[in-house]
Amino acid sequence: MIAEKLCKILEKPVCDHCLGRQFAQLLHGYDNKERGRILRTVAAMFVDITEYENRMYMSNFHAFRFHNIKNAAVKNKKCDVCGGIFRETEKWSERAVRKKPDFRTFLVGTKLSSELIRKEEEMWERVGIDYCEPIKAEINREAGKIIEKKGYAFDPKRPDVNLIIDVSKRKIKIEVNPIFIYGEYQKLVRGIPQTKWPSGKYKTSVEQIIAKPFMKATSGSGHKLHGCGREDINARCLGWRPFVLEILQPKKRAIDIKKTAKKIPGKVRVRNLRLSNIEEVRRIKEERRDKTYHAVVRCEHITRKDLKKLSVIKELRQRTPTRVSHRRADLWRTRTVRHIKASYINKKTFVIEVRTEAGLYIKELISGDNGRTNPSISSVLGQPCTCKELDVIRIHTKK
Ligand SMILES: [Zn+2]
Repeated sequence: MIAEKLCKILEKPVCDHCLGRQFAQLLHGYDNKERGRILRTVAAMFVDITEYENRMYMSNFHAFRFHNIKNAAVKNKKCDVCGGIFRETEKWSERAVRKKPDFRTFLVGTKLSSELIRKEEEMWERVGIDYCEPIKAEINREAGKIIEKKGYAFDPKRPDVNLIIDVSKRKIKIEVNPIFIYGEYQKLVRGIPQTKWPSGKYKTSVEQIIAKPFMKATSGSGHKLHGCGREDINARCLGWRPFVLEILQPKKRAIDIKKTAKKIPGKVRVRNLRLSNIEEVRRIKEERRDKTYHAVVRCEHITRKDLKKLSVIKELRQRTPTRVSHRRADLWRTRTVRHIKASYINKKTFVIEVRTEAGLYIKELISGDNGRTNPSISSVLGQPCTCKELDVIRIHTKK
């Protein structure tokens, strides 16, 4: 049965890789190339024996067929299945490493050409798929072996680079994965947005301030800042806000994070910096943490006694604020105020310290946003109140 299959494969010229791969699940401890070489020798011997035994009775047709098998078996001409792709794979892999992108770990992927897919399917139709392995798997593995030998580590989960072998274009492409850096920031001045402002209205952002020294150190092509929530442009953030900075296509990966962070100017402070990953970005974006705010409120006229009423605000209904409704979905939500503490300054001014559930709009808690937030500080005090100054003073770790 196997001998028959072997002869069938060898009717056309195939290389050792492609021969061995059809029996990949047999003869363990060899790679396809070694397995192919062994099988080829066995086939040659088998042909010799058959020829010898049958010489006297063979028809012309049989003689021709055996002659072919023997030639294919012995000469190992250009492969009819892969066209010699494995020799090229070796060349491409070495070229990729020679380009010296800064990486330590890698993953290989192969984009087959339609021709190669067709040839492989033809072979399977002819000889069956009982013990075979797909050619893609072998190309990936062979390229991986060569690159590992140069001192790099295979990492299927979080590789520094993806090496993509494109068979029809006959080349290897290097996709450099981003670097992720976790940290926590404080924004000590007002008037800076968290991320780059599209219209150019704000010259800088927390993102650009933090990213600048890292861009210089890594020669990346771009950056993104993923924050655990965001504060208002005019609000300071005195609590430490977790973030992950993403540097795209870094040319240099091995950087001293702590040393680089020292170059961030004083408007923004950072701490607890370390390497991170895409999973942490997802986690940070989904996390819903309580926030404590400090706000200076302007009103028409209040007394110390009036301020005591504010403790009735526990739960409120809040519709997407007018000021952001053009870019966020307009919907009603219920949000909790954990506690609220008000201190009298003068009859037109007081300050509040308020801890709220994530996603509560604090300016609207004060103003009421024309009834879109209810109850509000304005509705409870029975007069229009506005937020004059706002700081995030704490981003809580637990609810
Ligand atoms: Zn081949």
